[in-house]
Amino acid sequence: MSSKRDYYEVLGVSRSASQEEIKRSYRRLAKELHPDRNKSPDAEQKFKELQEAYEVLSDPKKRKNYDEFGFNSEYTDSNFTNFNNGFSSAFGGFTDLEDVLGQFFGSSFNSSFKKNSYQKSYRGPDLEYNLRIDFFEAIRGCEKSISFHSKVKCEECDGTGAYKKELSRCTTCNGTGKIRQIQNTFFGTLQVEDTCPRCHGEGVIPSMVCQSCAGKGIKHQIKNVNIKIPKGFPMKGVLKYPGLGDFARGATSAGDLYVNVFVNESKEFERDGDDIYSEMILTMPDAVLGVEKDINTVYDKIKMKIPPGTENGKIFRLAGQGVENYKTGRRGDHYVKIKIETPKSISQEERVLWTKLQELNMKKGL
Ligand SMILES: [Zn+2]
Ligand SMILES: [Zn+2]
Repeated sequence: MSSKRDYYEVLGVSRSASQEEIKRSYRRLAKELHPDRNKSPDAEQKFKELQEAYEVLSDPKKRKNYDEFGFNSEYTDSNFTNFNNGFSSAFGGFTDLEDVLGQFFGSSFNSSFKKNSYQKSYRGPDLEYNLRIDFFEAIRGCEKSISFHSKVKCEECDGTGAYKKELSRCTTCNGTGKIRQIQNTFFGTLQVEDTCPRCHGEGVIPSMVCQSCAGKGIKHQIKNVNIKIPKGFPMKGVLKYPGLGDFARGATSAGDLYVNVFVNESKEFERDGDDIYSEMILTMPDAVLGVEKDINTVYDKIKMKIPPGTENGKIFRLAGQGVENYKTGRRGDHYVKIKIETPKSISQEERVLWTKLQELNMKKGL
């Protein structure tokens, strides 16, 4: 500690410098010394020194203490009382004690902060994507390439937002992530607890901000994912891709990606699970006399025998001509509903024949 440079010297300002001058000088030096830009071996050390000096001199209360007591003011002021608080409230629980010690020994204890208070295991947010596919793409299976905006981990800082992953205790809330404020009310003073605005409740802040992600711990990226739709995919389904969701600062892993798949309807077929429904239009003579007709199934075209005397609305079942189930591979059935068409306009020749039929029916008493 004795070899420490004077804070004013570090910032290159006089002891009577205004807050504005201090800020300006800090900005200039921070740019110059940031280890991402400055490759000299002592740049990192100098940058830290600069940050520490600025943290004290930019705070009028801390600056006054420093002017009066020098470096020790850090400890004689707020931190000593915090030490007592931490001790009495936690009764020296070991991790708390370590945290308190970390405060005194500086960055050498940073690793314990990470384990104790920062690296809580939590995942980033999940993402949802809506994908629409064609009726036959669902039945036969397909591959779709989707792309979307996502937040990925900043590799430079491993998602911590901190240069070289070094975190230090947030001095605003003393690492608790919470601040207490006294409010004067009609009934007297009220103590309210709030999330620390500086560390957003995390209790730690980057010792140095990662320049690559501006301390956010994430980067924006367009993600491309190949979606495989298995054959026999239902009309509506969700595919889950673990770890392809968003990353968030301080998270241990990214969230998941959920692809909601919607399947377009078909004009010709109706689908209910693995079963298919369609209609066949028959002329009156075909319905009466029977016929062999081509019918489209979802996979191909087959011949279908319509027996004589088929009634309107009759349903035929074509076993095993439905959709192949995506799990079992078993195929559903295809149901064909008969619709008999009554001719609206007929030729003279047809009129003769229908009249003849009518006369025969009348003789039968129909
Ligand atoms: Zn804080
Ligand atoms: Zn980063």
